Amino acid sequence: AKARVVVVGGGSGGATAARYVKKLDPAIEVTLIEPNPTYHTCYFSNLVIGGLLPLDRIRHGYDGLRRYGVNVVHDMIVGIDPVSRKVRGESGRDFEYDRLVLSPGIDFKWNAIEGYDEAASRIMPHAWKAGDQTVLLRKQLEAMPDGGVMVLVAPANPFRCPPGPYERASLIANYFKGHKPRSKLLVIDTKDSFSKQGLFQQTWDMYYPGTLEWVRAADTNGGIRRVDTGTMTLFGEFHRFKADMANVIPPQMAGRIAIDSGLADDSGWCPVNRRTFESTIADDVHIIGDAAMATTMPKSGYSASSQAKVAALAVVDILNGREPGTPSYANTCYSFGAPEHAFSVTGVYRLEEGVIEQVAGGVSPLDVPQEFRRREVAYAHSWYNNLTHEMFG
Ligand code: FAD
Repeated sequence: AKARVVVVGGGSGGATAARYVKKLDPAIEVTLIEPNPTYHTCYFSNLVIGGLLPLDRIRHGYDGLRRYGVNVVHDMIVGIDPVSRKVRGESGRDFEYDRLVLSPGIDFKWNAIEGYDEAASRIMPHAWKAGDQTVLLRKQLEAMPDGGVMVLVAPANPFRCPPGPYERASLIANYFKGHKPRSKLLVIDTKDSFSKQGLFQQTWDMYYPGTLEWVRAADTNGGIRRVDTGTMTLFGEFHRFKADMANVIPPQMAGRIAIDSGLADDSGWCPVNRRTFESTIADDVHIIGDAAMATTMPKSGYSASSQAKVAALAVVDILNGREPGTPSYANTCYSFGAPEHAFSVTGVYRLEEGVIEQVAGGVSPLDVPQEFRRREVAYAHSWYNNLTHEMFG
């Protein structure tokens, strides 16, 4: 019989894994299970929020994967049985596998910030999963009166996309500057430092003085602890912030299916063997992307796609009776500080004694001519096109 691989989650990690298993061994039957008919990338969603791109620029369908021979099924997996090796869909349908790849992304720790639950996220959006929430945040920005105050709450580590909150803050400040110049954006952080901080702060000094203010955790004794959506107030231990609109990015954990199936540890993330991304908790299950604990690799779309290729190779080796090799991994992430101003971080990683160690890489330099930042904008667009082409065809 044909070997069967089931991939749960048709996002950055899952789409890449499905495509690469099929590409590496066309004899394997690959089924990708994802509830939504289209996927919106979180990368470039900050450009949609900032009014620089339309939503359809970040929307992708699954016909490309179908053309490659992947069996795409729209269903939501609600149970995993690693003993009889099958997953169950919300539809009631069972899917049997020889190897399972899970890339369910993240879910939110509702009420970790008191009062911030799913209902509150419809008033103070997180927009940390792209699609409806992206549109909601954009609409609120358009509706906010000039002179309004917006609060953006940035989470503690670890979370999806470490530079993401600061790119978002930059592009919202850019929108205010052009359309609502009397408005102000307060970033209330749960940390005292953040990714690409020097590059962001240099950008903010150049473009957004008086519009964007970053408040480190030490200044509020740990950031926002409670929200009241009725009065649009956000509370620190001793501070309160009254807002016209708020973007709350709450603490995160592995996607719910991983948690509910007992595949995460107390940290809320999934421990894996980094050579193959096999779960250290369940046999025949590989976990990749944001949900997995990948040592020093940031939780990014590019990381998810790199891990997907490592896992796909391992799955194909194992199913063909070969020993998986020693992988290397890569990450590249661009951030926009303004429409014509971007910078990047790159890392190349290798497996060293069971952990993923960075062996090369770096960030864009400070103090360069504007032409350098403009060029990185062009590179960012190629990065996006190449990455999503590899995922969705
Ligand atoms: P996802 O891409 O979220 O995919 C998970 C998929 O699983 C979803 O489609 C979901 O519907 C599906 N799913 C969940 N549960 C189930 C279930 N039970 N059954 C079936 N399907 C299920 N990364 C970069 O590399 N560069 C960037 O510039 C960048 N910018 C970002 C900006 C923002 C604002 C944000 C929020 C993130 C950004 N990221 C960026 C991070 C990137 O989006 C994530 O790291 C990446 O999407 C993780 O991939 P994943 O496969 O783990 O999860």
